[in-house]
Amino acid sequence: MRASRLSRPEPPGELDLRRDEPLGRHTYLRIGGPAAYFGEPPDIDTLARITAWAADAGLPVRVLGGGSNVLVSDDGVTAVVLALRRACGEVRFDGSEARESPEVTAGGAVMLPALARAAAERDLGGLEFAIGIPGSVGGALQSNAGIGDGRDIGALVRRVEVLRGGEVCTLEREALTFGYRTTSLRASGAIVLTATLGLTPHPRAEVEAEMRRLLEARQRSQPTATPNAGSIFRNPPGDFAGRLVEAAGCKGLAAGGARVSDMHANFIVHDGSATAADVAEVMRLVCERVRGHAGIELTPEIEWWGDGAPPAAFAGEVGGR
Ligand SMILES: Cc1cc2nc3c(=O)[nH]c(=O)nc-3n(C[C@H](O)[C@H](O)[C@H](O)COP(=O)(O)OP(=O)(O)OC[C@H]3O[C@@H](n4cnc5c(N)ncnc54)[C@H](O)[C@@H]3O)c2cc1C
Repeated sequence: MRASRLSRPEPPGELDLRRDEPLGRHTYLRIGGPAAYFGEPPDIDTLARITAWAADAGLPVRVLGGGSNVLVSDDGVTAVVLALRRACGEVRFDGSEARESPEVTAGGAVMLPALARAAAERDLGGLEFAIGIPGSVGGALQSNAGIGDGRDIGALVRRVEVLRGGEVCTLEREALTFGYRTTSLRASGAIVLTATLGLTPHPRAEVEAEMRRLLEARQRSQPTATPNAGSIFRNPPGDFAGRLVEAAGCKGLAAGGARVSDMHANFIVHDGSATAADVAEVMRLVCERVRGHAGIELTPEIEWWGDGAPPAAFAGEVGGR
């Protein structure tokens, strides 16, 4: 049972939780109302104490990574929203000198492009695909982030350290499953503290050349200069959401300040004035048109964060924490 806005409990001062933090400051879309509580715990112990307090107070905990795959309600969320930059921001490379089975252990809050660059500097490949994905390791593990040619984070995972039910535990690869934009970690309630990823020795120049190639391809095909949330809808089996949206005549379709990108139909962009309701309305209109045109039901790739019933476009979504 969630606490009502009128009767929100006061957190102990040492947990250092802020009240009513605007989440638009922390999301890639630059949209979103306030989090009832927001914290950046300095260490895992404080993180565990915050989750214990939230459980006692009947409040859900939501971890925010890069905020690049969420649409936050204009009314915000009655939740404890946590950013893990301070507690889970470290990176440790192992085995690269011996060139035997090199791997990197990265904190859940480490951003993928920075991690890919750090690997390249050590003549390690495997993470090139991640150079243009503006998410964190923890966020990438919720959706098995990847680029659609077989390269995704799941393929690299050796083990993941999580906080679950107040305990830190290690999940070996065999205990995890990875599919198209989904993993067994999604909606499990586990907070990703670190992930250990297997890498491959590869000359830095070649790794960097591949990353440049991938970034240039993005710049040619995606609206990188305007706020967006990456792909809005998942690709249905055997097809591409962008192709379906374009074929249904949705490019330029708008509601308020949000509209379907003219450059890539599976992107919604905005001019800075859009609300979350505008984005959700564009999504609903797109779903309606694609249903009418192709008879296909699109499902969102981005996640809705809000209290109560989600907007129509998210009605079938498996919720977050
Ligand atoms: C310009 C752009 C391009 C993109 N390109 C791609 C692409 O090519 N491929 C692709 O797969 N995606 C892409 N995305 C989507 C997005 O970047 C990925 O889904 C990314 O992995 C999300 O990570 P995040 O840290 O931003 O997650 P957030 O948006 O912050 O959160 C997403 C979910 O992950 C959870 N989460 C975050 N951190 C943790 C943690 N430590 N422990 C537990 N749960 C956590 C959140 O609670 C939430 O449920 C793109 C997005 C943008 C804006």
